[in-house]
This record gives sequence, structure tokens and C-alpha cells, in this order.
Amino acid sequence: MKVPLLDLKPQYQALKAELDAAVLRVSESQWFILGPEVKALEAAVAKYSGCRFGIGLSSGTDALLIALMALDIGAGDEVITSPYTFFATAGTIARTGARPVFVDIEPGTFNISPDAIERFISGCEQRDGKLINRATGGRVRAIMPVHLYGQMADMTRIMAIAQRYDLRVIEDAAQAIGSEDAQGRRACSIGDIGCLSFFPTKNLGAFGDAGACVTNDAELAAKLFKLRVHGMEPKYYHQLIGGNFRLDEIQAAVLNVKLPHLDSWSEARQRNAAFYDAVFAKAGIRGLVPPPPAPKGARHIYNQYCVRVPRRDELRAHLGTAGVGVEIYYPLPLHMQQCFEYLGHRPEDFPESLRASQESLALPIYPELEESQLQYVVDSVRTFFGR
Ligand SMILES: *Cc1c(COP(=O)(O)O)cnc(C)c1O
Repeated sequence: MKVPLLDLKPQYQALKAELDAAVLRVSESQWFILGPEVKALEAAVAKYSGCRFGIGLSSGTDALLIALMALDIGAGDEVITSPYTFFATAGTIARTGARPVFVDIEPGTFNISPDAIERFISGCEQRDGKLINRATGGRVRAIMPVHLYGQMADMTRIMAIAQRYDLRVIEDAAQAIGSEDAQGRRACSIGDIGCLSFFPTKNLGAFGDAGACVTNDAELAAKLFKLRVHGMEPKYYHQLIGGNFRLDEIQAAVLNVKLPHLDSWSEARQRNAAFYDAVFAKAGIRGLVPPPPAPKGARHIYNQYCVRVPRRDELRAHLGTAGVGVEIYYPLPLHMQQCFEYLGHRPEDFPESLRASQESLALPIYPELEESQLQYVVDSVRTFFGR
């Protein structure tokens, strides 16, 4: 048997008639960019995320970049984030001219550690209401938590820290559309701006690149709309330097068809995760740590199901031979990337991120997996451990 890490074809087959019709509708309209499909998607995605405003964008990366731009973050500024995430999180911070400040993660959730944020801030001082990093002289402006694998970071503590030091918060929810914390608050509805990706492998995927920002702040929304089109308003008059961060109608049309199904897909991912959880708990495999259960009341949408295995690379090879698709998210933490050498970090600066990069392994979790496939994955894992 073969079990791919992700197979998008069954989802397409199930919605083929609707999706094909939606793409054809756009073809016939010959209205390709920022039209009625984008408008409808913006309203729907905002509502889904518990926000007033949605801004359709060209990718999740661009959503992060434009969010930073809207908050006027740039040279001389610093933004606190996790070193254990997809590159775009810190890449966009650096692209604005600001300095990414990495702090370590919590080992259970793989999400940014509020304690680590506090430890970093204890090395800062407040001058004229500004938070200044004593080591660099830079001004700390914002926190960019990532809701990794579909589970929310500890937004209660992060928001308390942000309020105490007057920091902005940008939620990187590229992997977490519709996830909720233990208080039932949706990802993207808590910080100043939430950022979503509709890259095809995310839980809500387009037929190419797409993304969005959502916010409850009318002023920020107006600025984001403007920045998306080169800071232009009215036509050919530029108050701000923005960029081309526009969203295509075809992508929005596809997403408008898919969004009503997102909850059922997330539930299927949760069922698959529960299947793995139950089998792994029963088998009691020493050397394999399943992801801890989501806190009571929280909603984990399982963009990934990552186990921890000290003999990770051996298990990965074993599963590869067995025909099970797996992946490492992420093999090299961002503080160890060549492009961030200038930040001067050593690997052991963030030991939990380093250990996660050595131990984590994502198993297939996509909604359309059949029970026989899930069973084959766990059987293949068990033969590796001789259980
Ligand atoms: C996918 C992803 C992004 C980037 O989204 P794109 O749409 O691929 O540009 C940013 N952050 C995280 C955590 C992601 O997983």
C-alpha cells in the first residue's frame, strides 16, 4: 500500500463540478483581478475568522509582509518570533529592514514560549514609552506568534505581554485557519492583524498562491487595502509605498467553493488524529511521543500531525521504504539558517527548537485518508519499533 503525505485529488474529485464551473465563470467574465469573487471571499474569510475585515492577497508570505508594512515596522525595529516555523515568518520581518528576534518554543505544542518572550524582554529597557533592546539598541515593536501545525499559540499570555509593553501582535495563522484556543477564540481574531495562507497544501488551499489578512481594526484594514495596490488612492496617486499584493479572481472563486467545506475537512483531520492518538496510546511505544492532546475547549485543526521520535531519521527511512509519505517540519531552525548568520546565534541558543528539528516527523493526516490507510501507517510505525 502507498499512503502519501498529502493527496489533493480526492478533494478535487468530490467538488469537481462546482470547482470547474467556478473557474469557467471567471474565464467567461474575463475579470481576473480584485473582482466580485475576491470581495465575496474577503467577507467570508473575515466572518469565518471572527473579524470585521478581510483583505485578499497574493500569498501568505505577502500577508505577513503587508501586515508588517501596515504597522510601519522597518529599519531600527525588532519583532519577536519563533525560530521553529516556515521561513516566511522571519523572512518577511527581515525584508522590512527590521530585525527578527528569535525566542524558543514550548516543547509540547512547538509554539512560541511566553516565558521565553518574557526572558528576552527582561534584557530590554523602557525609554520614553519605547521598549529598547539593550543588546542592539533596536526598538521592539511587535510579536509575531505562529499557530504551528494548526494549534494556537498561548494568545492570552502573549496579549498580556503585548499590552504591558505596547507591542503590536501579528498572528501567523497560515497553518491554523479556524483553530480556536481554550477560550473558544478563533485564530486571527485576537491580535492586531491575522495572516492566512491558501497555498494548496494548507487546510484551505487554492489552485495556486493566495493569502489574506484579517483584522477588526477599520483603520488598519483601510491601510492594508491601499498597500495591496501600491499605496494608491485614488488611481495613480500614491500616499504610501505599497506593492502588488493582489489576489486573482480564479483563486478566490476556487476558495469560495471550498470554504463551506472547511469545517468538515477539519473534523476529518481531527478524527484521523484521534485514530493515531488512540492506537499510539494503546501500543505505548517507547521512543515515540504523539502530539499532546489539545487543551480542553480548544480546536486543533491538524494542518500537520507531528510525532517526536529520537530515532527520527531511521523511522523516516523505514516509512519511506514502506510507502508512507512523511516530512520534517522543520529540519533546520531559522536561527541556524545561513541567511540569518548576521544575527549571531549558536545552535544551542534555542535548545527546544533544535531538538524539535531533530525529532519531529509529520505523518499523513489529510481529511480523505481511509481507515485502512491510517491503519497501514500505524502498522508501519509499529514494525519499526518491533511492537
Ligand atoms: C505556508 C506558511 C507561510 C507562507 O504562506 P505562503 O502562502 O506559502 O506564502 C507562512 N507562515 C507559515 C507558518 C506557513 O506555514
